[in-house]
Amino acid sequence: MKIYGYGKQSVSADDIKIVTDVLNSDFLSQGPKVGEFEEALCAYTGAKYCIAVSSATAALHIAMATFDISDGDEVITTSNTFAASANCVRYVGGTVKFADIDFETANINPDEIKKQITNRTKAIIPVHFAGQSCDMEAIHDIAKEKGLYVIEDAAHAIGSNYKGMKIGSCKYSDMAIFSFHPVKNITTGEGGAIMTNSKDLHKKLLLLRAHGIERDSELYDAHGKWYYEINSLGFNYRITEIQAALGISQLKRIEDFKAKRKHIISLYKKIFANDTRISFLKERDFSDMCFHICPILIDFENLGIDKKKFFNDLFDAGLRLQVHIYRFTCILIIEGLGFHLVTIQ
Ligand SMILES: *Cc1c(COP(=O)(O)O)cnc(C)c1O
Repeated sequence: MKIYGYGKQSVSADDIKIVTDVLNSDFLSQGPKVGEFEEALCAYTGAKYCIAVSSATAALHIAMATFDISDGDEVITTSNTFAASANCVRYVGGTVKFADIDFETANINPDEIKKQITNRTKAIIPVHFAGQSCDMEAIHDIAKEKGLYVIEDAAHAIGSNYKGMKIGSCKYSDMAIFSFHPVKNITTGEGGAIMTNSKDLHKKLLLLRAHGIERDSELYDAHGKWYYEINSLGFNYRITEIQAALGISQLKRIEDFKAKRKHIISLYKKIFANDTRISFLKERDFSDMCFHICPILIDFENLGIDKKKFFNDLFDAGLRLQVHIYRFTCILIIEGLGFHLVTIQ
């Protein structure tokens, strides 16, 4: 029996070649490929700056640190997401407030964000669930009125568009964060990136990525070309040259991945069009999705079996589903054939 796993990356001959070339080069950690990958992500999304890092979790952590979020500060995120979107707030001592979702899209509901705002709120982390953009203009308006930062958790959404712009352009946010874990839309093995249009934020993020080490031409002129200073706390969240090379190659393939995922999902929608037991989340007009997953809603009463039996039966048939996000139950798209189920509990 063929086993269909939870997610499967697609690695091409070109992907392998670029990585092999790096292994034969002088640089394995920081070299030319990291900058090239960052430039490619800027060119793709339209954002001015990019910092590639070791994971989206690391990206979210230093995003929180950049905005000086700490004890007593509150950050609002969605109640339907992976733990990392909320954990990053805890890493810096902040308090997480969860806003409920719009049940048609499973994305954070701007009206629910308003209900969670207090005088301690500092930031909002909308998550583009399944690859569909949140209502960013509405979120931006709320943030502007209340003086809040907006950090898009776009871990699911590289390749997606919002009102004709690529997610990651940061038109309606301070930063957007991508994940390149193998289950995501493109992969670097492990890896992530932060997009921003702010020179100042970019500078702060560079320090946070690498131990707070400061080097620049002014310091070199004053003290000699060996000179550096460490004036703030930083981390080692660097991405490697090997990972960046894979990212460059994968990013070239993203429109193909997007088209393939769209095609698979259009087939599911056709197959289940008249099946009242299963329905799909709605796609908003402003959204053009690079589907990370294809969530479906299951009416178990109508189906005649419970969730446990449903999952166990599919498991026995070779479909290895996972309860991924607790409110929902998900199966990831597997390149070429897979699908992803979501059930509201
Ligand atoms: C996967 C994911 C992350 C974390 O990504 P990593 O690169 O694995 O750290 C963060 N937020 C969401 C919504 C995710 O799905």
